[in-house]
Amino acid sequence: MAAHLTKQELLDALYRPYRKCQECPLGTLGRNKVVFGEGNVDAELFLIGEAPGRREDLEGRPFIGQSGLFLDTALAKVGIERNSLFITSIVKCRPPNNRVPLPLEISTCTSLFLYNQIKIIKPRIICALGSVALNTLMSAKLSITKVRGTPLEYKDGILLIPTYHPAYLLRNRSKLNDSLADLALIRTYLSKTD
Ligand code: SF4
Repeated sequence: MAAHLTKQELLDALYRPYRKCQECPLGTLGRNKVVFGEGNVDAELFLIGEAPGRREDLEGRPFIGQSGLFLDTALAKVGIERNSLFITSIVKCRPPNNRVPLPLEISTCTSLFLYNQIKIIKPRIICALGSVALNTLMSAKLSITKVRGTPLEYKDGILLIPTYHPAYLLRNRSKLNDSLADLALIRTYLSKTD
């Protein structure tokens, strides 16, 4: 990567050839827009969900539907502003009927985009939202219920703290306090200077 380019320029160069990406089957299964992600390119916190939903697919922006609004409210409750972080998903195209992305789709898309986004942005903390993000990033089969709120070592000194996906919280409101505790822990880590 050219050292003189800004992070935003590097991200733009990463996305530019793939605005109509068909590198995995999700590119040909009715997707409208590729949702690469957005946010503060100097973010210390990088949030990663599973896949775009209906509204995200139509508008090409991540976490703007009901789940996104719910997430924004939860973040605000613990003092984390949406404009301070970067947010994206494991796969950048909406799976048909919101099904779980398949292994080939995940491996193709993360190799092309997510791992490069992490390299460019260089966050201190990744928050994996839900089990698909958790298990993809940790290359493991972990239970989100068991490890949520636990700081895990991702790589290159980046800490990974998992919590529930906001879409799951919308259906299981009793878990909201657990998730708020996880986000508050992230807030505490972010406030540590090192
Ligand atoms: S999910 Fe990723 S790899 Fe697959 S078509 Fe969409 S952008 Fe390309």
